[in-house]
Amino acid sequence: MNQSVTLIGLGPMGQAMVNVLLEDGHPVTVWNRTASRADGVVARGAVLAATPAEAVGASDLVLLSLTDYAAMYDILGPVEDLTGKVVVNLSSDTPDRAREAATWIEQRGGRFLTGGVLASAELVGAEPAKVFYSGPAELLEAHEQTLRLIGKPHHVGTDPGLAQLYYLAHIDLFLVTLAAYLHATALVGSAGVSAQEFLPWVVANLETNPLVLPAAAAQIDSGEHPGELGTARMMGASADHLLEASRAAGIDAELPGAIKAHYDRAIASGLGEGSWTGLIDVIRNAR
Ligand code: NDP
Repeated sequence: MNQSVTLIGLGPMGQAMVNVLLEDGHPVTVWNRTASRADGVVARGAVLAATPAEAVGASDLVLLSLTDYAAMYDILGPVEDLTGKVVVNLSSDTPDRAREAATWIEQRGGRFLTGGVLASAELVGAEPAKVFYSGPAELLEAHEQTLRLIGKPHHVGTDPGLAQLYYLAHIDLFLVTLAAYLHATALVGSAGVSAQEFLPWVVANLETNPLVLPAAAAQIDSGEHPGELGTARMMGASADHLLEASRAAGIDAELPGAIKAHYDRAIASGLGEGSWTGLIDVIRNAR
């Protein structure tokens, strides 16, 4: 008999998770604030609980897929006893809120895992989907077979905040890369180059950029930033040119302005003759 699972929160993510669990033959109990959102999953075999307490009572493994952690308190607040329950919160929020939630669940007798889901709803259960977990490793080990259905699980540490940090670091890479893509496309577009004409150059750039990262990571971890292959001063001059060209083209200059500010601060603090990786100290130490 497959493990029974309770899933609370039936937005696009929660519904996708229920579907993969049902497809694998798990009995699934659901609860959602707006009960009508359960219609589709109930038609596919899920059981709709009348209250959060009834939903939590139905399974030892309780998954939450909510807009944020505040919703967890609204829903589980009235359920005072969580003894024997493993609560896995797959909602996004800040690392500190995940840490507070772990304490809150443990005070009610439950055990807690934080999950950071790196997949869109349509990719839940598919090959590229990944989920970062943090909290007690044995909880993930005990439920890995079930949780694996959502996405490939990666335990990143015992600190409940870590899974949120890994998730947010990926959002950082994703959003900043997309913003840089849009800015670069607008920059060449100011001279009439279409996005499609420019696209192959973007793809080539994104393929070759990672080649510098292994050496960069080693420099960051060692704290040594030798600049013999290129200096922060030289890169800062390029950032200046990018800012000036953006202004001349009449396009938004805030993104290159923020990059230039990092270089300016690095150079002002004597890091100009080292490698660009020295900017990590500027980024680590907010003004
Ligand atoms: P939604 O915000 O669309 O839905 C989440 C659920 O939260 C709904 O069931 C909603 O209930 C419920 N909810 C929100 N506030 C409350 C509350 N105060 N009390 C009770 N229930 C509440 O989110 P998604 O399904 O899109 O995503 C879920 C989580 O997964 C989010 O944290 C999101 O950041 C993360 N995520 C989403 C991705 C995506 O592609 N959608 C990708 C990766 C991560 P109701 O139906 O009643 O409104």
